[in-house]
Amino acid sequence: MTLRVAVIGAGVVGVATAYELAAAGHEVTVFERRASVAGEGSFANSGVLAPALVETRLAHAALHVGLTARFSQAGWLWQRWRTRRPAADPGKTLAALRRLALASRRRLLHLTRQLQLDYEQTPGLLLLLRGERELKAARHQWPELEALDMGAALVDAERARQLEPSLHGATALAGALHLPQDGVGNARQFTHLLKAHAQKLGARFVFDTEVKAVRGGVDPELQLATGEAPSVDRIVVCAGAQARRLLLPLGLKLPLAAVHACSVTAPVRHLDGLPDQGPKAAIIDERNGITISRLGQRVRVSSRGHLGADRGAVPANARLKPLYRALEEWFPAAAITREAQHWQGIRPTLPDGLPVVGPAGPAGLWLNLGHGEHGWTLACASAQVVRAQIEGDTAAAALADELALGGGDLACLRLDRWP
Ligand SMILES: Cc1cc2nc3c(=O)[nH]c(=O)nc-3n(C[C@H](O)[C@H](O)[C@H](O)COP(=O)(O)OP(=O)(O)OC[C@H]3O[C@@H](n4cnc5c(N)ncnc54)[C@H](O)[C@@H]3O)c2cc1C
Repeated sequence: MTLRVAVIGAGVVGVATAYELAAAGHEVTVFERRASVAGEGSFANSGVLAPALVETRLAHAALHVGLTARFSQAGWLWQRWRTRRPAADPGKTLAALRRLALASRRRLLHLTRQLQLDYEQTPGLLLLLRGERELKAARHQWPELEALDMGAALVDAERARQLEPSLHGATALAGALHLPQDGVGNARQFTHLLKAHAQKLGARFVFDTEVKAVRGGVDPELQLATGEAPSVDRIVVCAGAQARRLLLPLGLKLPLAAVHACSVTAPVRHLDGLPDQGPKAAIIDERNGITISRLGQRVRVSSRGHLGADRGAVPANARLKPLYRALEEWFPAAAITREAQHWQGIRPTLPDGLPVVGPAGPAGLWLNLGHGEHGWTLACASAQVVRAQIEGDTAAAALADELALGGGDLACLRLDRWP
């Protein structure tokens, strides 16, 4: 049965959702309040696609909690602590996240080949371990990574420098975790390309149009800031950090925190006759949680998340300094920093670190949001999951089989996991 579906938000998650729905033959209209796709959280992210790391404590554990946030976000921090207690069985939810990430990579590779997409993708990720403390943590995690059978290797500093020949020799390095199947790609570019393919399949994109309100029911309704909304059978909210405001009037209190993170993007410096001095793919400096990634002819350096009172798209200097320092330590003079662009985005994050992909509660209303620091990594499979659930239980069960997700995994992604 062909459904008329409205998708709210054209970030990487909304566009992937629109594509999957249109590819399945549904009539899709995407409403985006900005003038283009990927204008908010998907704009200048690190680009790292790392299913191998999502379940580990490596590289992601470091959420910086600002002083004010300790009070203003106390409830969220309490919930986060509770979901990580052994009694809450965090292993179960994190394993669901890992399976979703692996399924997403398979879907991304499939789309890349099928649609011949080029989004500055490069395979390979090195998690740099500066000293004994980081090496010990990686060794602790090693049996789990090895069991994934994804070609991961714990390598010494010499081998790490062979893999990334431009790593600065003077910066101390005890070893690295090499993840050859993880990698990096430009999420914004991918979103633009996939939007064009969704349009070819009949999806309609309505830009500069904010959805002011939604209402569930047999005939769900949208209210637009300007113009008349079309009649639809289903609504999927992919509104990233703004989703909370849209859902609150329906009594849906999403425990969604705005975790800020920033990035610096600069062109790679080319010197005649010499190989450039930038990274080949992606590196993560485990000690400070900073990512340095190669995106075509540019280098992007990104920070770990910060839970605090930051606002706007321009990051404070204090947040940028560690990024420039890390770039200088690992790849000195590799980028033309006077041409650097600064950006700050939000990673809408739920306390257990999992997104919400599934029914909102009120009939006709669906959610695909809250992907936190893994939105790019998870977008393609999340879109498949929400598409199949909208089509009904049989489609959802068939997809879960196909993606090697258990029924428990889908339950872990539902909104009603929160009391
Ligand atoms: C610095 C940084 C680095 C990151 N690095 C990585 C990484 O390496 N790997 C990874 O997997 N993830 C990473 N992430 C996370 C990832 O970028 C996000 O999880 C992802 O982009 C979220 O996508 P989204 O489509 O859900 O949200 P968004 O991209 O924010 O899209 C939501 C869209 O909805 C629109 N919208 C909102 N409300 C309305 C409304 N009422 N009406 C109409 N439109 C509306 C917004 O304008 C926006 O375009 C990073 C994030 C940041 C900030």
